[in-house]
Amino acid sequence: MHTPLCGHAVGDPEEYAKVAVRKGLAGIIVTCHNPLPGPPDPGIRMGVERFDEYCQLVERARMAMEGIADVRLGLECDFIPGLEGWLEEQVGWADFNYVLGSIHPHLPQYRDLFQTGDAVAFQRTYFEHLAQSAETGLFDALGHPDLVKIVDPAAWRPEGIATEIERSLDRIAATGVAMELNTSGLLKNIGEMLPGEFVLAGMKKRGIPVVVGADAHVPERVADGFDRAFKRLTEVGYTEVSYFLNRKRIDIPIEAAQRRLAAARNEV
Ligand SMILES: [Zn+2]
Ligand SMILES: [Zn+2]
Repeated sequence: MHTPLCGHAVGDPEEYAKVAVRKGLAGIIVTCHNPLPGPPDPGIRMGVERFDEYCQLVERARMAMEGIADVRLGLECDFIPGLEGWLEEQVGWADFNYVLGSIHPHLPQYRDLFQTGDAVAFQRTYFEHLAQSAETGLFDALGHPDLVKIVDPAAWRPEGIATEIERSLDRIAATGVAMELNTSGLLKNIGEMLPGEFVLAGMKKRGIPVVVGADAHVPERVADGFDRAFKRLTEVGYTEVSYFLNRKRIDIPIEAAQRRLAAARNEV
């Protein structure tokens, strides 16, 4: 989930935490978009000069919600080949609990470098970079790992690039990095979770740990679609879902997570 500092999210972390409590979560990890070197990206990410403010914002919410919800600091890092040195330093800027590595193929920073006009070639490039992002060893999990499909939904046919996807997943599995099942895709042009069935099945086949995220940019979306996500995971054969604290992975039974959400609903 995000903060207003990225310029395209609303709501104080405390408001996100309150929704989390209502929906049955024990806490939240705020993972706003990381500052990047170079010119500012208004409306996309905070600048370096606002990073301290970000940490303070999350800390204030942590204190305000103490004993009610566990509010933690995390970061969503854009991965673009060539940024490895910057990111290596950045993950040491604070005591993050959880660092997501994400490629945002629809953003100009990435598109300008790699988009050629051939939608399928662009998808292949994306999956090559996805594997590279895992191999940096900098991230706990890879965010919304088939996001490239939203760039040209009509050109998305994962079976057609199965070789590249399978090779990418093999490389990711070898690193031990987790991957996210992100429910925000249900609201995007593609109308399905990120990843969809093809990539998710490949993750399961290789025993890649999975983390569920809503990618909330408004407080009301905290834990949005989690029931559907847990159902999807169960359908492809997952029995456990993971989360991170102090950058250490914790696995819990999906059934336990489902029970918690159901109990919160009944109490309302
Ligand atoms: Zn965002
Ligand atoms: Zn993202």
